[in-house]
Amino acid sequence: MHELSIATALYRQCRGEVDRLGGGRLEAVEVAIGELSAIEPSLLRFAWEAVTSESDDVGAELDVDWREVKHLCRTCGDAGSVEASGWPRTCCECGSILAMQGGRELDVIALKYSSNEPESGATAQVGTSASDPD
Ligand SMILES: [Zn+2]
Repeated sequence: MHELSIATALYRQCRGEVDRLGGGRLEAVEVAIGELSAIEPSLLRFAWEAVTSESDDVGAELDVDWREVKHLCRTCGDAGSVEASGWPRTCCECGSILAMQGGRELDVIALKYSSNEPESGATAQVGTSASDPD
């Protein structure tokens, strides 16, 4: 199952991030999944449960932030109106073939963990905005 290898890699990434931050128990992970990523969110959640159930982080939640593909008309410069039927998708306004934007996301947006230190839980923002330059 495709999703199982994704979930395994995802878990390793998150587990490594928690360890890097000082260790603790992984509580929840939020991921962005694009429409075109060929990932079925329900299968990914199922795989995630299977992967985490064999770890110390059993019960860690997986939140999926579903990202639909956006269409952009190069002629009108707008993505407002898409002809629903047919492929390729064409612009309602001018009939141009629409370019697709996004929809391929497979990103960890945030992870939550409880630190080994008592009384301190933490939420870590990961990704482009939170990378520190060490
Ligand atoms: Zn157009």
